[in-house]
This record gives sequence, structure tokens and C-alpha cells, in this order.
Amino acid sequence: MKQYDAIILGAGATGLMAAMVAGQRGRQVLLIDHADQPGKKILISGGGRCNFTNLGTAPERFISANPHFAKSALARHTPRDFIDLVERHRIEWHEKTLGQLFCDGPARQIVAMLWDECSAAAVELWLGHPAEVERTGDAFSIRCGPRSATAPRLVLATGGPSIPKMGATGFAYDLARKFGLKLVEPRPALVPLTLAGEDLLFRELSGVAAPVIASAAHGPPFREAALFTHRGLSGPAILQVSSYWRNGEEISIDFLPDAPADWLTRAKRADPRRPVRRLIEQQLAGRLAETLADRLAIDGPIGGLSDHALDLAERKLRGWRFRPNGSEGFAKAEITTGGIATGELSSKTMESRKVPGLHVIGEAVDVTGWLGGYNFQWAWASGAAAGAAI
Ligand SMILES: Cc1cc2nc3c(=O)[nH]c(=O)nc-3n(C[C@H](O)[C@H](O)[C@H](O)COP(=O)(O)OP(=O)(O)OC[C@H]3O[C@@H](n4cnc5c(N)ncnc54)[C@H](O)[C@@H]3O)c2cc1C
Repeated sequence: MKQYDAIILGAGATGLMAAMVAGQRGRQVLLIDHADQPGKKILISGGGRCNFTNLGTAPERFISANPHFAKSALARHTPRDFIDLVERHRIEWHEKTLGQLFCDGPARQIVAMLWDECSAAAVELWLGHPAEVERTGDAFSIRCGPRSATAPRLVLATGGPSIPKMGATGFAYDLARKFGLKLVEPRPALVPLTLAGEDLLFRELSGVAAPVIASAAHGPPFREAALFTHRGLSGPAILQVSSYWRNGEEISIDFLPDAPADWLTRAKRADPRRPVRRLIEQQLAGRLAETLADRLAIDGPIGGLSDHALDLAERKLRGWRFRPNGSEGFAKAEITTGGIATGELSSKTMESRKVPGLHVIGEAVDVTGWLGGYNFQWAWASGAAAGAAI
């Protein structure tokens, strides 16, 4: 059985980063993945261009039962650190919107960059077999297909269960349970929400997108696009809100993010003969304007409507309530919220308090970023924290 300083399970974003950092420190590292190649999720990320970080990275943009946990790792490996690495490898990038940095070329450049760094640091890679883990005294032994290995340090970097088609599994949670680590209930996040009942009527808007401000009951507002789909609601604003949404709760959508306050009553004073529907159409895309105006049951010249009715209509348009009946689940979720409880881990080294030598990083941990490169930044930062400690 071959001996290593550290074995890292999962050659995704965070496992590659941890292996690179530990390898560069002269550690003998074995990286294991059951997939046939490393970094498969990186390859499909950001529509194939990998939104690899966000310039607006700040602890408040991460969701966790302990909002302070991510601070230490995020402060020690910043977006600038990752940009420096990208630039050393001459990978061209651009800022798309809201601080989101994407590769100009294909995402495989990021995987190649990380793997080049790992192989220069003599990291060994085993692919194609799931691993079985045993604790033997102070060490961990791993069986992986026909091969086995042992190390005093084991890094759990196998991600969350989002998109099982890409090789995602609940392996990290199974291993956490085996070692007695607590979990925060894992839920699909950055995922489209589904509508039922009365809201099903919005299906007729399938394909319509609009700039909105969307919010869940216990989350911040997100000013981005929302998209109606044949199953419910999607688009960046809704994906963001889905990470905060809980079953049974409503979400609120402001369809008038750019309209001035008292827009309808002011329009009535300016020109009472104008049809109210024309005014709504000025603010909202055609089909959306029609559907919402039908729901509000307002029609005719605006002068024929009382200020009270206009005020009610405007308030409804600024806080339209939907009660999703669910989400499209782990099959469509970009990420998982919840996971291995942060209380189990050191925020500096990501090492388990109960099981010395076991580190947990990346999506497996109860830290979830907003949409827009934050989740990779967490993967790099937590991977670098563990890589510096193993
Ligand atoms: C479609 C899509 C697009 C995305 N785009 C972006 C984006 O542009 N920007 C962004 O910041 N985030 C994006 N994300 C989220 C991002 O991919 C994750 O946050 C990130 O990959 C998490 O890194 P990780 O290393 O923790 O997990 P992963 O990248 O999922 O890696 C886990 C690895 O563990 C392996 N594994 C699982 N189980 C086992 C096992 N039992 N044995 C051995 N190996 C195992 C898997 O094969 C995988 O290689 C996207 C996600 C999806 C699904």
C-alpha cells in the first residue's frame, strides 16, 4: 500500500486547488476522482466559459448557518490571487456584468491550468473508481478499484449532489455521517422554481424575460432578469432567490425596477386620456404587460380609474407574489446549500474538530455563494486553506 502525505477525494475545482497548493509545498499528494477526467463541472460552468470568480466577493454573498465561517478562507485567497494565476497562464478573461469574470475562451483552459500546476508539483491522479475509506489508527486508508493508499491526512472534496449526471454524489455526506459529523440539511439551490395552482396561468408567458427585483422572505433583493418557463420561473434573479427560498414560502417580484414612484398616478395627472394598458406596456414587455394588466383587471383611459385603484395596481406590480410549489431539484440545481456543518470544522484549515486529519472543502461544506462566480471563489479559497494546512 503506497503512502502519501495527503489524499484528496474529488478532483473538482476545490480538490485541484488543494492538491496544487499542498503539492507546491512539497507534500506528496494523491488526488482521486471516480470520473474519467478531473474538473468536469468546471468544463460546463459559465455556459462553457467558466465564470471563475467575482470581483464583488464578500462574506455577505455566501449563505451558511454560520455567516462568519467563510471570512477567514476568503480573506486569505482573494479573487486577485486567482486572477494572478489565470494571468500567469496567459488565459484571456473579461468582466461580463456585476463583477463576474469569465474566460474569453473555453473553460477547459482553467482545468488545464490547475492540472498543469498539480502535475508540476508531482501530484498523482487516480481516475475512474470510487474510493472506499477506512480510518486505521491515526491514518486513513483508501481502496480505489485495484489500488490502495494510505495517508495521515484526508481531504473530502467530493462536492454536493447537484447535477448527478455530471458525476455529483452525496458521498461527502455519507462519509461525514460515518465519521459522526453533523450536516445542515442539503437543499438544491441556484435552481428554477416551479409554479402550480393559480400561478400556472403564467405558463402562457413561457419564454418571456424581464428585468425585475426579486426577493425571498429571508433573503436580500436581487436586481437581475427573471424568465417565465413552461414549469415556472427561472433566470438569474430567480436562481439567486431560490437559494434563500424555503418550501411553502412566497417570493416577491418587482416588475417595475426602473419606474419612478407613483408612476401611474403621475401619468394620470399628465394625460388622463391615455389608455392604462399602453402605460403598462411602456414599462413591461408586450405579453407580460397584457397578462399582468388582465390580472389587475384594469383597462380604459387612466383618467377613469381612481387614485386608489392606481396605487393598488402599482403596489401589486412592485411586489407581485408567487408561491412556488417546489423547485426543479438537484437534477437542475447549479449548487447545493447546506452540507457538512461549519461548526465541525476549523475555518482556518478546514480540518474536522472531531476527526483530526480529516479536512472538508468546497461545495461539501455548508457555504453557498450567490450566482456569478462566488461558488468557484469559495472552492479556490477553501481548497487553498486546506492545501496550506495538510
Ligand atoms: C451547470 C453548472 C454551471 C456552473 N457554473 C458556475 C460558474 O460559472 N461559476 C461558479 O462560481 N460556479 C459555477 N457552478 C458551481 C460550481 O461548479 C461548484 O461550486 C464547484 O464545482 C464546486 O466545486 P467542488 O470541487 O466542491 O465540487 P465539484 O466541482 O462538483 O467536484 C467534486 C468532484 O468529486 C468527484 N466525486 C464525487 N463523488 C465521488 C466519489 N464517491 N469518489 C470519487 N470522486 C467523487 C466528482 O466527480 C467531482 O469531480 C456551476 C455548477 C453547474 C452545475
